[in-house]
Amino acid sequence: MLQLYMPLHFLGFVYREIKNSLADMERMFRLLDENREIQDAPSALPLKLHGVAVRPRHGAAEPTGAGVAASHPLPQTADSVSNVSGVRFEKVRFSYEKSREILHDVSFDIPAGHTVAVVGASGAGKSTLSRLLFRFYDVDGGSISIDGQDIRSVTQASLRAAIGIVPQDTVLFNDTIYYNIAYGRPDASRDEVIAAAQSAHIHTFIESLPQGYDSMVGERGLKLSGGEKQRVAIARAILKNPAILIFDEATSALDSKSEKAIQDELRSIAMNRTTLVIAHRLSTVVDAHQILVMDKGAIVERGTHRNLLEKQGIYSQMWALQQQEEH
Ligand code: ATP
Repeated sequence: MLQLYMPLHFLGFVYREIKNSLADMERMFRLLDENREIQDAPSALPLKLHGVAVRPRHGAAEPTGAGVAASHPLPQTADSVSNVSGVRFEKVRFSYEKSREILHDVSFDIPAGHTVAVVGASGAGKSTLSRLLFRFYDVDGGSISIDGQDIRSVTQASLRAAIGIVPQDTVLFNDTIYYNIAYGRPDASRDEVIAAAQSAHIHTFIESLPQGYDSMVGERGLKLSGGEKQRVAIARAILKNPAILIFDEATSALDSKSEKAIQDELRSIAMNRTTLVIAHRLSTVVDAHQILVMDKGAIVERGTHRNLLEKQGIYSQMWALQQQEEH
């Protein structure tokens, strides 16, 4: 009996193990499925701004996120998009993981040419708004539209050609600083690249380097400071000349001179563009047409800087606190 029991016991063990592995495999495929890349709808059309189709760029999407890219994609051919357009978030709900909703019924408009700034505590969901507008993820409820077109109904290439991002932490390719700026519009002339660097106030710094614009940057080259990297991103955005601009302010502390310079540059590139600013410092937002105050995934206050101070709510408390810290 024992002779029979042992192999059966062993078989039972093997069966349980296989079953567990299959369950893991299933979970893995479910995860893969959940994380699959955003696809263009079969009927997707190019985004139209003021009735004119945006001509997409060829090549990879805008580099975003932290760190340094080890390699870079092929250069793109590009058209600059300078028409203005309006952005609408309507009852947007979103979660990265099913169990935790991050945005709850978020609605706001950025009229063409206006600047809307988003403030709020860390983790409130501010950067998530920019990821959704760039369509790194799709909304779970509600919609995001540009000039009346749901962004899920347009091609990703045309959407991304219309939007410029100045991310918190700019990805630098292991290449020359010239390449890193020209990436915003690879068919730009040298004069245009230099003009963009001048507008982003990084030209003088580049000229001071022994190899100037040919200096290698990135992981295997010169390491740039947070402020310098953000200026490279601003120069890229100036060169790209997008209709819609997302500016995700660096969380890392910059010295107050660099901070003020970057805010001035932002003000000049946001002029006449539809701009979403994710702000970590309130000094960045005082001029915005509208400020949204986010808390735990919802907009809890909105208005101009002056309106919000008069309201004496969360924003005015945040403002008072920041003034105190600065003094
Ligand atoms: P901060 O001011 O610190 O940049 P934020 O307001 O921009 O914060 P988000 O980056 O939008 O916040 O994140 C909102 C919430 O979503 C946070 O709780 C964060 O932990 C969570 N989150 C962000 N990215 C992911 C992700 N890829 N997967 C799962 N959860 C995420």
